[in-house]
Amino acid sequence: AGHMATFKASDTVVELSPTHKAKPDESELVFGKFFTDHMLTIEWTKAGGWQHPRIGPMHQLSFHPGCSALHYAIQLFEGLKAYWGQDGQVRLFRPMLNMKRMAVSAKRACLPSFDCEELLECIRKLVKIDQDWVPRSDSASLYIRPTFIGTESSLGVKKPTSALLFVILSPVGSYFSTGIKPVSLWADTKYVRAWKGGTGDCKLGGNYGATIYAQYEAADLGCQQVLWLYGDDLQITEVGTMNIFIYWTNEDGEEELATPPLDGLILPGITRQSILELSQKWEEFKVSERCITMADLLRALKENRVKEIFGSGTACVVSPVGRILYQGENLLIPCKEDFPPLASRLVKELTDIQYGRTPSAWSFLL
Ligand code: PMP
Repeated sequence: AGHMATFKASDTVVELSPTHKAKPDESELVFGKFFTDHMLTIEWTKAGGWQHPRIGPMHQLSFHPGCSALHYAIQLFEGLKAYWGQDGQVRLFRPMLNMKRMAVSAKRACLPSFDCEELLECIRKLVKIDQDWVPRSDSASLYIRPTFIGTESSLGVKKPTSALLFVILSPVGSYFSTGIKPVSLWADTKYVRAWKGGTGDCKLGGNYGATIYAQYEAADLGCQQVLWLYGDDLQITEVGTMNIFIYWTNEDGEEELATPPLDGLILPGITRQSILELSQKWEEFKVSERCITMADLLRALKENRVKEIFGSGTACVVSPVGRILYQGENLLIPCKEDFPPLASRLVKELTDIQYGRTPSAWSFLL
């Protein structure tokens, strides 16, 4: 293939799987447990550039034990979904934003660049081949996991000279199948998710592996997720693996939907961006990207100005927060209903687009 600056979807070599796995029932769909029949792999070497993309049967990968992904976490991933619509069409939701975020992560991880359009086209081909795996449901979906790893078999701490980009697919159920209940959060400065100059704004695997320990401590304290704080002023940054929104009457008496700004600590969520764009278009209240501290939140709770707090992400669209454990005290967020009005409206508008009930330029047809 020579020194290719990118791979081309039109070069994709397809080898269909001779066998097909049984598809799980929707009720069995535990997140990330089942995989489809096929996967996409694209190899890169410094000497030879990008090789032709391959779609083939789902298979095990094999690496040298010195592989840089295993030693230095030269690794990144993405997460997006394919949704089956009642019109029989399968749609992705703003997938080019995932491709671009992946390209940003690749740069930060010192992995080679690629053409986002070409990768999206490769993913389209893969999902098309496995489209029977997209659950015929208006709450389940097919999760798409693009992954990119350094494969160089050398212990040198440096840019890898070989890499593998692969994509696997997993049918997933409704996030809310067990009932819609607001989540509880543990807010503490003991652990930090991201920091200025770090990698919190990129989707590198190391960001996630390092948070699991804190997640278990939160669980020991009776909370479901960690509310990630940053800095001496206890800035509110993210919740678990979601962006965070606060809907309130702000200090100046204005009705406002606020989320922390993309200052390097925050993963630029596609759901976050979509919520900002949708609510700005409504022109019903102020929409802000601004720093919010625990002191701001405590004061607002005391003054009864908080209407809703929710996380946002591909997994659940939005997830309301009901309680925050902070310095040994439970702060109750005034969720009058389990799913408060703004959170409900956002879920409806976004899932209507994702499942094709509302036509939108954000839908990418398979
Ligand atoms: N923050 C973090 C840390 C995440 O891992 C994710 C999931 N990708 C999000 C926010 C939400 O991003 P998105 O809306 O693109 O799923």
